[in-house]
Amino acid sequence: MIYLKTREEIELMREASLLVSRTLALMAREIKPGVDALKLDKLAEEYIRDNGGVPAFKGYHGFPATLCTSVNEQVVHGIPNSQALKEGDIVSVDCGVKKNGFFGDHAYTFCVGEVKPEVKRLIEVTKECLYLGIEQAKLNNRIGDISFAVQDHAEKNGYGVVRELVGHGLGKNLHEDPEVPNFGKRGMGPKIKNGLTIAIEPMINLGKKGVKQLNDGWTIVTVDGLPSAHFEHDIAIIDGKTEILSTFDYIEEALGLKVLSS
Ligand code: MG
Ligand code: MG
Repeated sequence: MIYLKTREEIELMREASLLVSRTLALMAREIKPGVDALKLDKLAEEYIRDNGGVPAFKGYHGFPATLCTSVNEQVVHGIPNSQALKEGDIVSVDCGVKKNGFFGDHAYTFCVGEVKPEVKRLIEVTKECLYLGIEQAKLNNRIGDISFAVQDHAEKNGYGVVRELVGHGLGKNLHEDPEVPNFGKRGMGPKIKNGLTIAIEPMINLGKKGVKQLNDGWTIVTVDGLPSAHFEHDIAIIDGKTEILSTFDYIEEALGLKVLSS
C-alpha cells in the first residue's frame, strides 16, 4: 500500500532529509586516507542526536551502526569498522534519520584521495543515473519510467545494474511501497501521484551486475570484486511538481566541488 503524504507531512520529511544531507557534509570533511569508518559513524550519530534526530539504521533489523559505509567492491549495507580508508578507495556513505516522526534516507559515494579515472567515471555516471531517474519522477509517469532511465544510462556506459536491492517509498517508515527498481520498462509499475514520497538509489557496478551477501549478514559485494557506486535522494511530488527533499549542495561545498548559489 502506497501512503501519499500531505504538504505538511512532506515539509516534516524535508527536515529529516536535510539533517541527513548535513550529516553527509560532515562526513565529506572527515573522509581522507587514514580515517576509519567507526570514527565517521560516531561523529554522525552525535551530530544527528545533537540536531534532534535519531539514527534510523541503528537497530533496524539489528543493524549495528548509524551509517552504512561500503568500500570499493562493497555495494551497500557495509558495517563501519576500524580499518583505515586508503588513498584510491571509494566509500558509499548511506545515512538514515528519524525526525518529527518521519524518515530521511540518502547516500553519496566519496573518493578517498586520488581515485583511478575509470572509478571516478563510474561515480559520475551513477550520479547522472540518479538525476536522470529523478527527471522521470514526475506526475502521471510510472515508476518504470524512473527504473528505465537509470538502467539505460548505466548500461549505455557499460556498467552492471544491481537487481537485488531497490529504491523505495519513504515516510513514517524507512521502507514503504512502492519499490523503485533501478531496472525496468517504461510505462510499467505504479503511477506517480501527488503526495508520493520515494527514495531513488542507483547501485551501479563497474563490472557485471551480480552481487552477493557476506556472511556478516549485511554487506553486499560485487561477485566480480570490481567497485560499485551508490547515490540516493529523497523525492516528493507536491502540487504536480517534483521536489528533491535532500541535497548534495552541502556535501559538494564541503568537497570544494561547487559554490552554493544562495
Ligand atoms: Mg534507501
Ligand atoms: Mg539509504
